[in-house]
Amino acid sequence: MGDSKSKNASAAKPDVIVISEAGQEVDKRLDQHMSYEFGGPFGVAAIMTGFPLLMYYLWICLWFYDGHLVYPTALDDVQPFLGRMWSHVQEDANPSLYAWKVYGGNMVFQLFLAWVMPGHIQEGLPVPSLGYKKLIYNCNALGCFYATLATAFTLHYTHTFRLTEILDNFGHLMSVGMIVGFATSFGMYFIGVATGNTIRMSGNFIYDVFMGAILNPRLGPIDLKMWAEVRVPWVIVFFLSVSGGCKQYEEYGYVTPNMAFMILATGLYLNACAKGEECIPQTWDMYHEKWGFMVIFWNAAGVPFSYIYSIVYMARQDPSKYRFPTPVYVLMFGTLLTAYFIWDTSMSQKSRFKMQTQGITTFRKSFPQLPWSIIKNPTYIQTAHGFVAANRLLTSGWWAYSRKPNYVADWTMSFLWGAIIGTNSIIPYFYSMFFITVLIHRVGRDFERCAIKYGKDWERYCEVVKWKFIPGVY
Ligand code: NDP
Repeated sequence: MGDSKSKNASAAKPDVIVISEAGQEVDKRLDQHMSYEFGGPFGVAAIMTGFPLLMYYLWICLWFYDGHLVYPTALDDVQPFLGRMWSHVQEDANPSLYAWKVYGGNMVFQLFLAWVMPGHIQEGLPVPSLGYKKLIYNCNALGCFYATLATAFTLHYTHTFRLTEILDNFGHLMSVGMIVGFATSFGMYFIGVATGNTIRMSGNFIYDVFMGAILNPRLGPIDLKMWAEVRVPWVIVFFLSVSGGCKQYEEYGYVTPNMAFMILATGLYLNACAKGEECIPQTWDMYHEKWGFMVIFWNAAGVPFSYIYSIVYMARQDPSKYRFPTPVYVLMFGTLLTAYFIWDTSMSQKSRFKMQTQGITTFRKSFPQLPWSIIKNPTYIQTAHGFVAANRLLTSGWWAYSRKPNYVADWTMSFLWGAIIGTNSIIPYFYSMFFITVLIHRVGRDFERCAIKYGKDWERYCEVVKWKFIPGVY
């Protein structure tokens, strides 16, 4: 960086995290409910009802109306229109027993694997609300992913469970996912309150169900929040893509490059979450976000059934509708792999830098390890939040150019997940449109939190790393 205010990490020994008294006071403040987010109780109630309805609507448009956004054109049409919508849900998205078996079977299997598979043992960051205790995570997602792949292949090959069934039962599975999301959110709220294991509570029932009550829910050795974030949504998203590939192969005798793109894109994403699982305890979702509706519903239903609308579109349309010339495919695959590289390495650079700060010097070598995942002699800003070496802000690698290089790369991938079907329908772009609002909102929340946590040091960091997202643009 060449910045005089930055320091070189190699000059400092990795040391024990000691938080100053002032830092502890700030942490206590951050662990209190400060102000309502998401529009407060009314806002979150609207999200909790609006999102499931939107998901049904978008699915209906894709499944029955060629991806066109349908709506009543006259006041008299409203009632019949709503009647049609409801009958689609009743017939093709009821939570059937079969869907419960498929969705529930996967959940139980993933829970079982998480419990029994050996993994990489990783310490989390010190948790202020637990007296700076570090929780232990058994990172076995990669082994579980391989076991799931082998099991799915066997089930498909032996005709015990054809993978095409997943996409064929999309509506039914989505409803089951939603029910699981709602039931778990309310259940966890009541468990948290009953056991006194709550944090940052506002006192408003619906708002606290939405934001969650418990920060670190555990079932035996399993951290439920981390398990649900990695093992449920991305596994379903990946197998929906594989299901789409199997369907095309059965129907046409080949898999389109567009579907292959989605299998690669979702496979890379799932593999990245699994191979870098030991980096997840350092993310905002793990150390800050509670396990409430916002996270639970999104993992159980939102991500799996609204991020891959391009696959749902392809499942219902002839390949001639979304065929591209070869150079466009080259551009799409090239951009995907570049964005993936930036996303993977930027996340790894920050997480491993934080681990070094914690005193961890040997890192897990799961496949694939990309070049530039660990920065040698990184520069950083030492903040006053920790006494010795804790809480440094990295100013090297991708983090020299942008305060959120990971968000930019992640969003680019989300855009490609929609763009792979071209411009015939806007619905597959839902993920990128939704995601950009999430990321902008999250950036606001995150930077506000960092400004409180680091005070003047955060201002100093923002002077060194000027751009929020794209250098020279914003
Ligand atoms: P970040 O990984 O950017 O983590 C933010 C935190 O990192 C800050 O609060 C701060 O915490 C620390 N930090 C920020 N800048 C620095 C720095 N320069 N040096 C050291 N520490 C720093 O964000 P998220 O946890 O929100 O996201 C992680 C990934 O998950 C992203 O790639 C995101 O796109 C993805 N994601 C994907 C979603 C999806 O639905 N597909 C949804 C949400 C996220 P502190 O200093 O207190 O440790």
